[in-house]
Amino acid sequence: MTDRSTLEYPFDAPPPAGEIREVAPGIAWLRMPLPYVLDHINLWMLDDGAGVAIIDTGIGNEVTRAFWDRIFERHLNGRPVTHVLITHLHPDHAGNAGWLTERFKVPLTCSQGDYLMAHAWRDQSSGYQVDALVDLFRHHGLDESSLTEIDATRGTAYRRAVPRFPDRYQRLIDGDTVKIGGSEWQVIMGYGHAPEHASLYSTERQVLISGDMILPRISTNVSVSAVSPEGNPLKRFIDSVKVLGRLPDDTFVLPSHGLPFYGLQLRARQLVEHHDARFAELQEACATPRIAAELIPILFRRKLDAQGLFFAMGETLAHLNYLVEAGRMRREPAPGDRTRYVAV
Ligand SMILES: [Zn+2]
Repeated sequence: MTDRSTLEYPFDAPPPAGEIREVAPGIAWLRMPLPYVLDHINLWMLDDGAGVAIIDTGIGNEVTRAFWDRIFERHLNGRPVTHVLITHLHPDHAGNAGWLTERFKVPLTCSQGDYLMAHAWRDQSSGYQVDALVDLFRHHGLDESSLTEIDATRGTAYRRAVPRFPDRYQRLIDGDTVKIGGSEWQVIMGYGHAPEHASLYSTERQVLISGDMILPRISTNVSVSAVSPEGNPLKRFIDSVKVLGRLPDDTFVLPSHGLPFYGLQLRARQLVEHHDARFAELQEACATPRIAAELIPILFRRKLDAQGLFFAMGETLAHLNYLVEAGRMRREPAPGDRTRYVAV
């Protein structure tokens, strides 16, 4: 615990896309655009002896690849790329994994869970098909027009944003050490946002590449998926945030979205408190039984488009599953073969 009351941002603006900015010795910050409400991602390039290691790759489109080309031209000076490592499988992180690993002839480094799920999502197999999700969301009361839109837009979305994905990889597990540029980076697996999200921490440098597990301004999406409809990803996420929140408070945090910051312990506490407040609101709303779709506006007060609803529904279910497992809520059958939730 510390008495820090606000986060501290040593850099007040990101580098322009296609440029780099050194944020610590040998660690360059890159910014790439995203065609979503969340309109950017941070990537990192670490000096690795004669070459550089790339952490996360941007979404797999022409725009991002053109910015990569510019960076290679201006800042690589013919140095080889030694590692392409992705923190997790989401398209803004994994989109150019195939393109970069083929171009530089290096293996992809990532967790097994994310490697396999990326393929399942691309192939729409193994329970990761969009139909399975549409069925789950229908069961929980999402309206038909939103479901039609999700069905039409989501099925091929991952493959479009991750046009190629490698067929072999170098596996990361929790506690592994990755040596980059004479520094040892410890892999700290986080759960709930992706199957096995790899954050990288260097004790010696006091730097955490947090990926999406700890973000300074927004709370990370944590959704229930159709393969584990009664799973509890939010419990796993909160537990993982607590683990990261035990690292030293003077750790410099490099997140995937927003600005690099100091205040890791404070931010971890804020994220836990944020969810605690949402749990209390949901429990109060469920004094009378409700289906999940009716509870979306409790958690999301703004108007949502189909993409927003898709995330909101998964996230609402994640909160409800957490409360059920914690014994604060129970499920009961509702008319129309649905499930409703009631506070206990
Ligand atoms: Zn993500």
